[in-house]
Amino acid sequence: MQSDAEVSLASHYDLAVLGGGVVGLSIAVQCAKLGWRVCVVERGQVGKEASWAGAGILPAGATVSVDDPIEQLRQLSDRLHEEWAAWLLDFTQIDNEYRRSGGLYLARSPAERATLRGNCIWWEELGIGYRKLSMHEVCNLSATIAPIESYGSAGEYYWIQRDAKLRNPRHLAALKVACRKLNIDLFEHTEVLELNASGSTIERAECASDLHEDHRMQIVAQRYCLTTGAWTAQLLKPLGIETGIYPVRGQMQLYRFDQIPFPCVINEGHRYMVPREDGRVLVGSCEEEVGFVKATTQEMMEQLKAWAVSVCPKLAQATLESQWSGLRPGSIDAFPYLGTLYPYTNGFIAAGHFRHGLHWSTATALLMGQHMQGESTAIDLEPFRLHRGNVQ
Ligand SMILES: Cc1cc2nc3c(=O)[nH]c(=O)nc-3n(C[C@H](O)[C@H](O)[C@H](O)COP(=O)(O)OP(=O)(O)OC[C@H]3O[C@@H](n4cnc5c(N)ncnc54)[C@H](O)[C@@H]3O)c2cc1C
Repeated sequence: MQSDAEVSLASHYDLAVLGGGVVGLSIAVQCAKLGWRVCVVERGQVGKEASWAGAGILPAGATVSVDDPIEQLRQLSDRLHEEWAAWLLDFTQIDNEYRRSGGLYLARSPAERATLRGNCIWWEELGIGYRKLSMHEVCNLSATIAPIESYGSAGEYYWIQRDAKLRNPRHLAALKVACRKLNIDLFEHTEVLELNASGSTIERAECASDLHEDHRMQIVAQRYCLTTGAWTAQLLKPLGIETGIYPVRGQMQLYRFDQIPFPCVINEGHRYMVPREDGRVLVGSCEEEVGFVKATTQEMMEQLKAWAVSVCPKLAQATLESQWSGLRPGSIDAFPYLGTLYPYTNGFIAAGHFRHGLHWSTATALLMGQHMQGESTAIDLEPFRLHRGNVQ
């Protein structure tokens, strides 16, 4: 810390949430509803990184009891999203456009067909209802979708009625309003520089505001929860803690149609199209390990458009409104990190949700609230603990 910098102190918090993406904001809301005094510290504006960049696809969760930790997380999130959407609408008057709009899954090659048939076995085990669709049924869904015949003999379509989606920028706007109404202090444009610890206790977060030159801030709280997404490893390294969190870039396009061309999410492998209720359609995405470089590339833009036009030929005439990329918080074993920041007993982590953070944010908030209160959690957090497998 520079000695000549102006330093202000914000203290008396039960919880300081460090990082204002969907995970941090959801945890803040959950804990403020418990009666805790909460603040959120965000380097930029809240909800403008991966959480804004994402598509908002929420694949259906299991309807039967499951042992797999990831499926437990998905199942709990799936149930909670309905409740959160209703609560946010009532509390903030913002409709996050959470809808069980259904999901269409497309195979156009023998390999994709084999994968989808494998998925069918998995869906059956999880009690997720699905159907193979005839072309007649696909046409009834939307006349804009290319006919199966055009894909040759490997073409197959499957349908999951319970797949859902939400409009993530609206969801984030609703969470921000909810934070304000719950008297959560939002420190935007404030970067956490380091966590200062003594023994097993984190004593304060040292921060810098980019609104005022040389303005430093110390946040003092009973608990600190790290929700800094793809950037989490950078803050933990000085504390001697290694995680398997790393950035994975995804690129997106947004098209505008005069009216909604199809009602559901269309998936093919890692590619998808997501319709918004006002006629806009998102096209994504890809997985690129390029460090912290947020940029779109001409090559990927062309690939995404070519894929989208091949599935929905009408998209060739739609207006491209914008394009962007975001950095997903990838995790080395595909499990998010949820739990205590050992050896610091008042430090917690909720990060590494990779492609699923919008979906798993609701369960994460509930579980972290329970865990930080010292209660037993709705699902076992042991598989998501910080020190697992080959990461120390
Ligand atoms: C193209 C794309 C498509 C996606 N589609 C979906 C989807 O359909 N469904 C789904 O469930 N998920 C999807 N995801 C994944 C999802 O967006 C992420 O898993 C989720 O947003 C992670 O949330 P987060 O809060 O952990 O991270 P973020 O939203 O990145 O938030 C972390 C925040 O921490 C802040 N921060 C970082 N360092 C500091 C610091 N030192 N001090 C203060 N603040 C700091 C950042 O500025 C940021 O705002 C997609 C992601 C991308 C990129």
